[in-house]
Amino acid sequence: MSDEQFRAEIRGWLQEALTGPFAEAVGTGGEGREHEAHELRREWERHLGRAGWIGLSWPTEYGGRPATLAQQVIFHEEYARAGAPGRLGHMSEQLLGPTLLAFGTPEQKARFLPRITSGEDIWCQGYSEPGAGSDLAGVRTRAVRRGDHYVITGQKVWTSLAHLADWCFVLCRTDPGSTRHAGLSYLLVPMDQPGVTVRPITQLTGTSEFNEVFFDEAVAAVEHRVGAEGEGWKVAMGTLGFERGVSTLGQQIGFRRRLDAVIARAHSNGAWLEPALRDRLVDAYIGLEVMRHSAVRLLASAGEGLSGLEASISKLQWATWNRSLGELAVDVEGAGALLTGPGYELDDAQTHFLFSRANTIYGGSNEIQRNIIAERLLGLPR
Ligand SMILES: Cc1cc2nc3c(=O)[nH]c(=O)nc-3n(C[C@H](O)[C@H](O)[C@H](O)COP(=O)(O)OP(=O)(O)OC[C@H]3O[C@@H](n4cnc5c(N)ncnc54)[C@H](O)[C@@H]3O)c2cc1C
Repeated sequence: MSDEQFRAEIRGWLQEALTGPFAEAVGTGGEGREHEAHELRREWERHLGRAGWIGLSWPTEYGGRPATLAQQVIFHEEYARAGAPGRLGHMSEQLLGPTLLAFGTPEQKARFLPRITSGEDIWCQGYSEPGAGSDLAGVRTRAVRRGDHYVITGQKVWTSLAHLADWCFVLCRTDPGSTRHAGLSYLLVPMDQPGVTVRPITQLTGTSEFNEVFFDEAVAAVEHRVGAEGEGWKVAMGTLGFERGVSTLGQQIGFRRRLDAVIARAHSNGAWLEPALRDRLVDAYIGLEVMRHSAVRLLASAGEGLSGLEASISKLQWATWNRSLGELAVDVEGAGALLTGPGYELDDAQTHFLFSRANTIYGGSNEIQRNIIAERLLGLPR
């Protein structure tokens, strides 16, 4: 199928699918709006799954569908263009799925992947801990093997969607005497069991996308460990590479809509006449064009996959750009942007400004991306 045919197919499908009950889901669940329409968005995942739009490029035996890298990006572009709802299944599809395809056993793939491509299972990512964020080698949550189970004790933090997730992929220490990267294992843990407590954390936006998760003798089956015992670091690093991967290349359309909204607001309230603001709007426009061209260049040179390095460059670019646009959005609003409505009700510019502070932190902070680029791409000394 040509890229044009693929685009026409997904565009047509979205147009039709986002009518009827799903019309209400349009525009919901984006950054800072993750609390919206959970039930409907869960049903939307299943709807996407039934139509075969989850697991593009995955083997068909797991419910996937053949698609080139360019087509995957086209999917994300059209998805954003249609204003389709924020995905509850993004970690399932973008992080855990590729990790299982790369490191999972045949049984694990057969058990978990079809439930992702059907939109049935929602996954969350249990990496970060109070003492282990950028430096994941500091993970302290421990898992002790008892027969055919691991018994898990410890705390995770900033776990997005844990309050809605069915499963969590958890990085924990299985070798009690180990330190740093050694002795870690990657376990697939059901969330609905005694011993798992999820506590929401309220974010700057007033809503809560992420949580603290406490494991108090929770269990995971030994057969649900991905990779060898003690070799979870390699698997976890694989997942992080996917986190900065292809979906970020398809974000341009969503960014363009946000930029257009800021420009339109600047026209309507006269902020456009301020030379300093106008300069920043022009800079934002140029920044987006640069991102678009580097995405096209990456696609042209990437063959069928993106390397971690390319993904780091793109993460650094888009996170910085979107955070600056958030700052510009409130500056264009002017002093009124300092006020909220009753009950801390935020408008689009305020939500964008506050949530985009997180862009340069999650998925590997800007500083960490710069370290990776400096050491591995530019060959600078550590
Ligand atoms: C919205 C959001 C959602 C998230 N969702 C999840 C999730 O679902 N699952 C999950 O496991 N985690 C999640 N996280 C956590 C995220 O991955 C971590 O916040 C991130 O890795 C940074 O870790 P930290 O917060 O511990 O900061 P720290 O690692 O303590 O870093 C603090 C500062 O020091 C800098 N720094 C640290 N080390 C270095 C270094 N070696 N060189 C230079 N600078 C350095 C950092 O860049 C940062 O600016 C989420 C975070 C956010 C904001």
